[in-house]
Amino acid sequence: MTAARRIAIGFGVALLLVSIIGITSLASVTSLSRTTEAVRRSTDMVMSLSELERHMTELESAARTFVITGDIAYEAPFNFATAGTEKVLDDLIENASGDEAQTAIALELRRLARSKNRVSSELMDIRRLQGMEAAAAFVRLGTGKAVMDTIRMRTAEMKQHAVTLQAAERAEAAINARRTELITGGGAALAFLLLTIAGITVAREFAVRRRAETAMRESQAQLSQFLDSLPIGAFVIDAHGRPSFANTTALTMLGAGTIDDLDIVTPGMTIPLWRDGQNTAVDAADDPMRAALRGLAARREGLELRTGETHIPIEISAAPVFDSNGNVAYAIAAFSDITERVRARQALQDATRAAEDSNRAKSDFLARMSHELRTPLNSVIGFANILLKNKGGRLGEQEISYLQRVLDNGKHLLLLINDILDLSKVEAGKVQVEWETVALQPLLQDIVHQLETQARNGVRLAVEMKTGLVPITSDSARLRQILINLVGNALKFTEAGSVVVSVDTVPGTRRPSIIRVSDTGIGIPAERLGSIFEAFEQADRSTARQYGGTGLGLPISRALCELLGYTLTVSSDVGVGTQFCIDLLADVNKARTEETNETADA
Ligand code: ADP
Repeated sequence: MTAARRIAIGFGVALLLVSIIGITSLASVTSLSRTTEAVRRSTDMVMSLSELERHMTELESAARTFVITGDIAYEAPFNFATAGTEKVLDDLIENASGDEAQTAIALELRRLARSKNRVSSELMDIRRLQGMEAAAAFVRLGTGKAVMDTIRMRTAEMKQHAVTLQAAERAEAAINARRTELITGGGAALAFLLLTIAGITVAREFAVRRRAETAMRESQAQLSQFLDSLPIGAFVIDAHGRPSFANTTALTMLGAGTIDDLDIVTPGMTIPLWRDGQNTAVDAADDPMRAALRGLAARREGLELRTGETHIPIEISAAPVFDSNGNVAYAIAAFSDITERVRARQALQDATRAAEDSNRAKSDFLARMSHELRTPLNSVIGFANILLKNKGGRLGEQEISYLQRVLDNGKHLLLLINDILDLSKVEAGKVQVEWETVALQPLLQDIVHQLETQARNGVRLAVEMKTGLVPITSDSARLRQILINLVGNALKFTEAGSVVVSVDTVPGTRRPSIIRVSDTGIGIPAERLGSIFEAFEQADRSTARQYGGTGLGLPISRALCELLGYTLTVSSDVGVGTQFCIDLLADVNKARTEETNETADA
């Protein structure tokens, strides 16, 4: 149970007890006053009854003395006693009200008293008018005595009843007082106990809260210290765009001493952001902080932080901070000075541009030179051919062998120049791609057919592919050039076994994905696999001597593949064979990956 709940229950129960004590006390006081009133009444009744007895006795004795003496002086006490009787009976009836039995007796007593009065008055009249004898005869009838006896009996009865009632009421009052004492005392003690427990709990809760507040203050101070030591600016604004936190780096970059200065530094703006190198401030749609206030995370580069004369290129990321109802409560931004990065990027761009320029100049030069070299070389080859025919028969065997060398070297040189020209053209971006629909099956068959004669004895050259493949969009001349080079190499370096050109398809479709040229030739050492694609590089000098070649075929093939959007890779085992793969979907897959990444970023 939580402390707050315990405290609430403690106070609630205490309150309930105090209410019960109050109600009980009130009830008890009411009952006490009621009992006191009842006791007073019964006391009054007892007194009235005694008074009645006295008056009746006085009335009887006044009447009796008058009969005996005939002295009219006794009429006055008689009348006085009669009046007193009436007055006492009125009081008695009033005090008996509410008690039916007592009221009935009181009324009967009045009737009896009046009757006694009448009888006594009649007796006194008889004495006055007829004399003593007649009066004595009337007394002997006993009417007056009978009435008087009944009055005495009823009075005694009523007195007894009043006394009993008084005792019962006194006893009840005593019980009431005791009960009130118990409830008030016990309740007060329990309430005191509960209030003490609640008080202790409140005090403890306060202590816990004070400790938590101290810990929170300490951790906040530590957090501020951490944030202040960050080399990036951290800046927080509330939902109304008012600055609410900025670490030291942010304040320095924003040119402010304290967070309160920021309103003055950036009037009307969350952060003074400007477009890189332009004289326009970033508008609301482009401001990452305002995007964060709309609940969107945003990251921007190519912006400048401007305060006065200072322009700092920055990279900024902003994100919303939501409250428990899902509304944006704050927007937080982290920004860093990317001056060095911008400078390095610029330097890199300059260097790349310079390198591209010089590469283009080199390729231009080579293309031009190759062209200039080919003309005289063709003439050398042509004339060597003519001379070799030895039409006049004037050339000896040695001259013919020299001429043959001139012709071979000339052809090799021409091959080299053609390759250099090709590579230069590709590198100089002078090769135009002629996109068309290309069916792979006939193209590959044709290439195999063309190169069959180069296969050594016992080497199988074949195309292995599914039928009915979907045609691809490519440049058939360039693709042919690449494949002729790869298959030509495979045949050149394979003494026995096979050279196979095969086509993989996208799983579950007939769409070509990879063209493989596999052989069972001499293989390429692992450490040379990386360099064979560089110009004039061969796997090893001895094979170059043995098999010939310029070392330009693979660089040209790879450059052409890149031009067509393919990638060319190799895997090989020395003595086992080599496999070259042209990935036809490299560009498609790359574009798809980039698209996926962009979507993921967004
Ligand atoms: P080259 O005109 O010398 O063949 P390439 O650029 O076509 O020039 O090949 C470079 C080198 O790669 C070759 O000299 C050879 O050492 C190695 N090479 C290429 N294809 C194969 C292959 N199928 N088997 C073994 N080695 C190969």
